Amino acid sequence: MKLAIRDARVLDGRGQAREQATLLIQDDHIEAIGDDRQVKVPRGTREIHARGMTVLPGLIDCHVHLCLGGDADVLRTIREEDPALTLLKAARFARTTLESGFTTVRDLGFRDHSIFSLRQAIQDGFLPGPRIVAAGLAVCMTGGHARFIGREADGPVEVVAAVREQLARGAEVIKFIASGGVLTPGTSPDSPQMTPEELEAGMAEARRAGRRVAAHAHGAEGMKNAIRAGAHSIEHATLMDDEAAALMREQGVFMVPTLSALATTADCGLPCGIPETAVLKARTMRARHEASFKRAHRSGIPIAFGTDAGTPFNHHGENAQELDRMVALGMSQMEAIVAATGSAARLLDIEHLVGTIEVGKQADLLIVDGNPLKKISLLRDRDRIMGVMQAGRFVSGPMAH
Ligand SMILES: [Zn+2]
Repeated sequence: MKLAIRDARVLDGRGQAREQATLLIQDDHIEAIGDDRQVKVPRGTREIHARGMTVLPGLIDCHVHLCLGGDADVLRTIREEDPALTLLKAARFARTTLESGFTTVRDLGFRDHSIFSLRQAIQDGFLPGPRIVAAGLAVCMTGGHARFIGREADGPVEVVAAVREQLARGAEVIKFIASGGVLTPGTSPDSPQMTPEELEAGMAEARRAGRRVAAHAHGAEGMKNAIRAGAHSIEHATLMDDEAAALMREQGVFMVPTLSALATTADCGLPCGIPETAVLKARTMRARHEASFKRAHRSGIPIAFGTDAGTPFNHHGENAQELDRMVALGMSQMEAIVAATGSAARLLDIEHLVGTIEVGKQADLLIVDGNPLKKISLLRDRDRIMGVMQAGRFVSGPMAH
């Protein structure tokens, strides 16, 4: 099957824009890109005229929780909900995410290992959804943050075992909890969790298996423990200090900001159903978090897009709100889009497949009406989505019909 998209603005996911471009798609991949004279469109090719539209790589969210539904009290839901129902809801959230233009997500902590079945069902075409890069259970200490979606482990030996359990089930990334968090009562975001020895042993095991390592850390000490132990990304990176920033820059460690997670919790008027401790923690940290983001952006720390979708009022399908927040804090529209495409693919170690519009890459694309370089918020507008394509096939939007 051949398809040509003509006369489109194309954002390549690496910071370049092309006007009036023709994109030729053959089967599942991008066959050619250029202007009308450069790209020969063979006879019999389906043609789409896309004047006024923008084609960009399918968006990538590096931090979601498909087992959480954005409820006010997600811990309570997990406690009371049957795991089978959680999985069914997760399938629905996956579909909503895809329909909003995200063709890849990284799930950084599910309540059990059924996320790997969902990943498989989507991969095999039984269910619509984004490509899922999944961690399984997050590795945390006994009593640690995120234990409701975690595997508690103490001491280097047990931590290594916990990592191996996730690998055995099919984890493509290992998530560690290196500080307290907002949603887990009794944990302080500022205090480190897991010892440096535990993090080092666990991360070395993950790296030996060729997997990426993501570390949740709000406080600076937790961040530094995780960076020194070999994390590829720091999730949240809320209370970054000079030393943590320098280490991230030197070692090329990604910040995955998840601005939406703190903002949606902090913005909820009490009583909104979110436990008060969580709201107060979020409100206390928000300004520091925004300052850390600006600092990372200014100083050249790599930034990859992530929302923490599923946390309270941070709904699946509204992932693109994070782009608005990034731009509001000083990123250009193009930089925000690169963070959600090319850079995100690099962090997830899938840049050879997706994340940019280049010849030979898989045709995972998002086609929107209008120019997001002028107005980033149009990426949040479902009515603007003309087509979502996965591996050369339209899966959502008017172009799919
Ligand atoms: Zn998270």
